Amino acid sequence: MPSASHLPSAPRVRSVVDGLPAYVAGRSAQTALTAALASNESHFPPLPSVTSLMETETSRIHRYPDMASADLREAIAAHVGVSADEVAVGPGSSGVLQQILSAVCDPGHEVIFAWRSFEAYPILAAVAGAEPVRVPLLPDEQHDLDAMAAAVTDETRVVLLCSPNNPTGVPLDAERTEDFLSRVPSHALVVIDEAYVEFQDEAGAVDALELYRRYPNVCVLRTFSKAYGLAGLRVGYAIARAPLAEGLRRTAIPFGVNRMAQTAAAASLAAHDEMRARTAEVRAERTRMIAALRGAGWTVPESQANFVWLRCGDETREAILSALADADILARGYRDDGVRITLADRGTNDRVLAVLAERGRFGSQ
Ligand SMILES: *Cc1c(COP(=O)(O)O)cnc(C)c1O
Repeated sequence: MPSASHLPSAPRVRSVVDGLPAYVAGRSAQTALTAALASNESHFPPLPSVTSLMETETSRIHRYPDMASADLREAIAAHVGVSADEVAVGPGSSGVLQQILSAVCDPGHEVIFAWRSFEAYPILAAVAGAEPVRVPLLPDEQHDLDAMAAAVTDETRVVLLCSPNNPTGVPLDAERTEDFLSRVPSHALVVIDEAYVEFQDEAGAVDALELYRRYPNVCVLRTFSKAYGLAGLRVGYAIARAPLAEGLRRTAIPFGVNRMAQTAAAASLAAHDEMRARTAEVRAERTRMIAALRGAGWTVPESQANFVWLRCGDETREAILSALADADILARGYRDDGVRITLADRGTNDRVLAVLAERGRFGSQ
């Protein structure tokens, strides 16, 4: 047998792929007692009306799903008040975003986004062959929309706005976003990622669908993974002008949204009231948690999502994560930036508060 050095070289991945960071998913629970607060999942179990339909669907899984996801697209269109030809679905909204970037970007085109924001953005942009352009958040955690507008060049094809932003929870301001849109040239698609919009209750926050109706270069991205509690099924959608939505459907993996996901997502829209009751509970807990954390001395932005954000340096971050881990709580740390903790039921949130109550042991923020 030849030694390794004499083997012919194996096929290699593109250098851009070699350089990609691995997507770091939040660790999942190790035991039944572990509080899994690292991935912004819903802590509520799936709705019975949704799981019973999925059971019926099980007997049909030897058949391909509807390639066009027609029923689901109709249900989404009715839900948001657009026509079905303005809806594209995909395996999670990260899947839809991948479709958007491959439909819109050629190699060398630029994709602008705030940083820190959703960590899939730089990865998906690079995979599409585009150049990721990060624009730092302002000190108050808002998107720096002036700097983002100034970063737009002839090569910019996509600007990603995240509202409420992951991992800070801060939504886009309506007026500033309107001003931004009036300055962005029409060759740049502005994607407003509203993964957490169902948790939002703040007056003055952006209404992306309303902007979509007035600006032809706006596209809205939403998911069933968070408030609708279907993270494990992988389904999300974009609302976009018909020619772009058609382009997204063309760049989709065939049958990418499976039978279970199509059925469950449509049923979840029908159970909208139950979802609203659940998000109301999360919002009440959010108010309570933010007040308690501030009372203990933490600086916490006004989150409009199902998580809270503690901006801090690496030493404090490590101290927080290890104290939480000692209490069997998994949260999400970001190098140089801070810690994100998903909100859950009252009892679990109290466990978090108990760990963070002794503000003095964690160092400066
Ligand atoms: C969780 C999340 C998504 C959705 O991911 P899915 O692929 O739909 O599960 C999209 N954008 C942001 C900002 C998120 O935090």
